[in-house]
Amino acid sequence: MKRINNYLNGKDFAGTSKSTLPVYNPATGEVISEVVLSNKDDFDKAVEVSNKSFQDWSRKTPLYRSRIISKYKDLLESNKEELAKLVSEEHGKTLEDAKGSVTRGIEVVEFASGIPHLLKGEFSQNVGTNIDSWSVRQPLGICAGITPFNFPAMVPMWMYPVSIACGNSFILKPSEKDPSCSIRLAELFSEAGLPDGVFNVLNGDKEVVNYILQSKDIASVSFVGSTPVAKYIYEESAKSGKRVQALGGAKNHLVVMPDANLDQTVDGIMGAAYGSAGERCMAVSVAVAVGNVADDLVERIHSKTQNLKVLPWTDNQADMGPLISKEHLKKVTDYIAKGVEEGAKLVADGRNYKLQGYENGYFIGPSLFDNVSKDMTIYKEEIFGPVLSVVRVNSYDEAVSLVNDHPFGNGASVYTQDGDVARDFTTNVKIGMVGVNVPIPVPMAFHSFGGWKNSLFGAHAMHGTEGVHFFTKLKTTTSRWPTSIRSGAEYKMPTN
Ligand code: NAD
Repeated sequence: MKRINNYLNGKDFAGTSKSTLPVYNPATGEVISEVVLSNKDDFDKAVEVSNKSFQDWSRKTPLYRSRIISKYKDLLESNKEELAKLVSEEHGKTLEDAKGSVTRGIEVVEFASGIPHLLKGEFSQNVGTNIDSWSVRQPLGICAGITPFNFPAMVPMWMYPVSIACGNSFILKPSEKDPSCSIRLAELFSEAGLPDGVFNVLNGDKEVVNYILQSKDIASVSFVGSTPVAKYIYEESAKSGKRVQALGGAKNHLVVMPDANLDQTVDGIMGAAYGSAGERCMAVSVAVAVGNVADDLVERIHSKTQNLKVLPWTDNQADMGPLISKEHLKKVTDYIAKGVEEGAKLVADGRNYKLQGYENGYFIGPSLFDNVSKDMTIYKEEIFGPVLSVVRVNSYDEAVSLVNDHPFGNGASVYTQDGDVARDFTTNVKIGMVGVNVPIPVPMAFHSFGGWKNSLFGAHAMHGTEGVHFFTKLKTTTSRWPTSIRSGAEYKMPTN
């Protein structure tokens, strides 16, 4: 059985732990490898090498760091297919979808290669007579990242390229469900010339997460995952004085106005609700039908679900693949049962989807609920599967209230041809990432990714300027040279 170890100090590191967890092929249900669950000794080793490497790396010029990152970007591009296959094998998503996610990750590496420009400080001459003042941003030390199963390449790449570009060393704790891609990402960074110990991958589960949270040597924690764990990470990190950004779950609404172009809207909804089997934090899980658009909308979505191809990633006809695990499949099917029990109308039922030759895989077909109301469990909670709920409302104001009253605040979109409605929506929704006629409004690498409310705990979003600020401390210096110092002490607050 293949054993997935750690990547420490520029090489494979088996560590001393004997504990492992199985890694599955979600399309067949077979165990394809096992991943090591690191223990305290392994964690201490990771801290030791990260600390040592930080001393040198943080003193390298930003241009030096940028050149290694540019080389890394080229290597990632030339190994994109291999990285995407690693994602698909363990996650189950289609190869094209996996490639797209790797590309979005590479864009963050490309952004991070501009670090000499991004780290430029601010300077003011003569803040007082003959006194100058400037601000710089300096690295934090050892940064840690803890990532979810649904984007094993892209989400880690939201974090470590920016952190490392800023001069930090980084310990990544990937999801134990699909850990292989992270190891390959680290190997390629070494190949690009990154000094050993700057980027380390430490596999494990919540035990190793707790070592990270409690450690006095770790300066910051970046987390992406479910809301209960995000909240826990935020609280525990703060207790030991760490800087923390913890991104949680979502329940993204797409508001369909009566004047929306329905062909475009339905296409947008199909990809956003069912792409990647709905296992995206920016997936659309609620379509809010305003006024008389509902019947037509539901009928069109239903008809398209009938032709959606649910297949393993190895089949290039696949529109979506299986869910990540047997447990998750049960959770999603239980939500569908709950929706029926609570009175929603199940228009398309993906349960009991079977594929010949893949009977033990974690497949489920696309599901569609109509007449969902805001008191129902399927409306309130994140399902994280290919299940779309349609809520019918009478007015635009009712739709906005739904979006704003929901405890999650990751993404929301409006489909309309009315600029006034679009402007009101973008201005007034309490949501971090907003789309106008765009179903999945994921910000590009040079903007920043992050939600509001229960979708993000902490003050900083990921990547873009927010990322640079998160991974650096601000230092402001005020300076006067001796020849300009007036004699005599000043006891009052100095002014001009
Ligand atoms: P998860 O919260 O179960 O796991 C995320 C990480 O936390 C993993 O590395 C896991 O090992 C660790 N972990 C799990 N339980 C823990 C515990 N009790 N204590 C400490 N660490 C723990 O999430 P997941 O199932 O891997 O991913 C799906 C979730 O991630 C969804 O809720 C999805 O919305 C969310 N997500 C959010 C974003 C975003 O940007 N907001 C992006 C991607 C995924």
